[in-house]
Amino acid sequence: VELQNVTFSYEDDDRKILQALNFQVYPGEQVTLSGRTGAGKSTIFKLLLGLYQPREGKVLIQGRDAIQIPENEKRRLYGYVEQTFHRVPGTVKDQITLYDDSFTMEEVRGAARIAGLDATIEQLEKGYDTPCTQEIFSQGQWQLLSIARAAVAKPKLLLLDEITSALDEATAADVMRTVTKLAENHTILMISHKAVEQNL
Ligand code: ATP
Ligand code: MG
Repeated sequence: VELQNVTFSYEDDDRKILQALNFQVYPGEQVTLSGRTGAGKSTIFKLLLGLYQPREGKVLIQGRDAIQIPENEKRRLYGYVEQTFHRVPGTVKDQITLYDDSFTMEEVRGAARIAGLDATIEQLEKGYDTPCTQEIFSQGQWQLLSIARAAVAKPKLLLLDEITSALDEATAADVMRTVTKLAENHTILMISHKAVEQNL
């Protein structure tokens, strides 16, 4: 991941959110971005997701312009996890695959295992085929499910934006243990208010 001299303002606004920003993250590294609220951390992720074009400079993933990466390649290139889980209508499996039938059941289980949720899911009455309602998982388990959703496509890069900030301390620690495990074979760029305590 590389930002080269990136300057950025949102369309309807001349305020410079990012100014001449440079950084590189190399394969296998774990990097935490921290900074005050409104500093522009999530904006950096939106640029990496190709949602916006920088006013100046370049935003590169594996040497390619982020904005030019086709949608259908993005899921295998990087996984993006936000603070809140967005449930889709359907089963537990659907939450992980997002209806993409090309994922095998083995891959779905593997992703749940990575997230530390496989045993919890197996205990549900219909396992992976259980229809989802809000109550079947706790807030922390939903957050782990969003990690499974990101992991199923086996991306090398994970973008994690404040994934523990809505969780209580013990649950946040569970999620961070999962992230620490993921760090063994993923490049991780994460945003955290608590960079010091969450040092990987
Ligand atoms: P937090 O720690 O609170 O999540 P952040 O560092 O992630 O903050 P950003 O969300 O990147 O901050 O926002 C940076 C600035 O850009 C803020 O002033 C915000 O109001 C502004 N901003 C964010 N999204 C938009 C948008 N879609 N249109 C206009 N301005 C925006
Ligand atoms: Mg943010």
